[in-house]
Amino acid sequence: SSVVVAMDGPSGSGKSSTSRGVARRLGLRYLDTGAQFRAITLWMLRHDVDIHDPAAVAAQAETPVLVSGTDPAAPTITVDGDDVADPIRSAEVTAAVSPVATVPAVRTRLLELQRSIIADALAAGTGIVVEGRDIGSVVWPDAAVKLYLTADAAARAARRTAENGSGSAAATEADLLRRDAIDSSRTTAPLVVPDGAVHLDTTPYGLDEVIDRVVAIVER
Ligand code: C5P
Repeated sequence: SSVVVAMDGPSGSGKSSTSRGVARRLGLRYLDTGAQFRAITLWMLRHDVDIHDPAAVAAQAETPVLVSGTDPAAPTITVDGDDVADPIRSAEVTAAVSPVATVPAVRTRLLELQRSIIADALAAGTGIVVEGRDIGSVVWPDAAVKLYLTADAAARAARRTAENGSGSAAATEADLLRRDAIDSSRTTAPLVVPDGAVHLDTTPYGLDEVIDRVVAIVER
């Protein structure tokens, strides 16, 4: 089917695992837009761009060559031809990504890339699950299905700490809340519940149950 599923929500709400699981079950493509913001951020750090200087970041917004692979069984991301799937998850990138994502030139650049990837999937006759912060509100407001996933901050921090395999839950929770605050308060494309989105609080559910619920919403 040629459905676009827009999956938005704060960090650690279960968006990534849910989006991949739904895409695999339904035979859809999968795009992680957070990975694209992380990849641009990694490039800025590697090229000594001061990520707290919006003009310096904007000047380089178009320079990195980004390629996202959209197979939900094996999503990939490269920058200038380098596989960056692992380094984009580092603490350094996690700390720097939200300031970079507030820069309008970065958002415009990625918006065009994201829309072209969605259009390609639709042209190929496959739908796509797209996860991020502004998918249903800005990137693809016509998405047939819009989800907004949330969970209690403590539950989100516990999940992320388990994924990372290290760090304290308290430090992880503080980091999630700091990113949420930046993502929700920026003027360009803030994190919001998109018009028409189904709001799903995943706190009480395991991953399989969340995937079941989302699949049922996509199929209805
Ligand atoms: O989803 P993930 O935690 O990997 O996203 C990293 C950061 O990228 C977010 O905290 C946010 O600042 C930014 N982002 C965004 N818009 C998106 C996806 C991610 O601003 N659509």
